[in-house]
Amino acid sequence: MQTTLILLKPDTIERGLIGNVISRIEAKWLQIAWMKMIQLDNDIINEHYAHIADKPFFPAIVKYMQRTPVIAIAAKGKNAVLVVRSLIWATNPLDALPWTVRGDLALNIDANIIHASDSEENAEIELKRFFKGEGIFEYSRLIDEVL
Ligand code: ATP
Ligand code: MG
Repeated sequence: MQTTLILLKPDTIERGLIGNVISRIEAKWLQIAWMKMIQLDNDIINEHYAHIADKPFFPAIVKYMQRTPVIAIAAKGKNAVLVVRSLIWATNPLDALPWTVRGDLALNIDANIIHASDSEENAEIELKRFFKGEGIFEYSRLIDEVL
């Protein structure tokens, strides 16, 4: 069982797509293990996007990520990291297949709806970053017994 970190970015909040994106996660049978709305400060964005800090588009990403609060979700399930990356697909929505989150809902790379951890190692780091000290719920669903 794996847990991965998802962020619903400001364009998702602004466009009224929160339910649309969360329903795809639920429909895949992943479990929502924690969820909260959070206004990102510069420190957490600098840490989270350290790997693109030297890119020319970084200042625009910082501004975009602070436009509204974001929704952080811990999603749990078998192969959750890879499964969620498959649900969201390519960074650039132009390369994202239809029936994926970015393929269906995003038009350009500047506002691509969602973040999801790209490896098990990063998921662990990112979950600590967003849910530090708060713990993640452990609960079972009756429906999981048929898995
Ligand atoms: P995220 O980390 O947000 O889930 P990702 O893993 O698909 O996205 P990264 O390479 O980690 O892609 O880039 C982080 C974010 O930086 C992207 O979501 C996108 O908003 C932005 N970004 C990446 N590459 C470009 C680019 N070439 N031009 C503009 N923005 C970009
Ligand atoms: Mg990334």
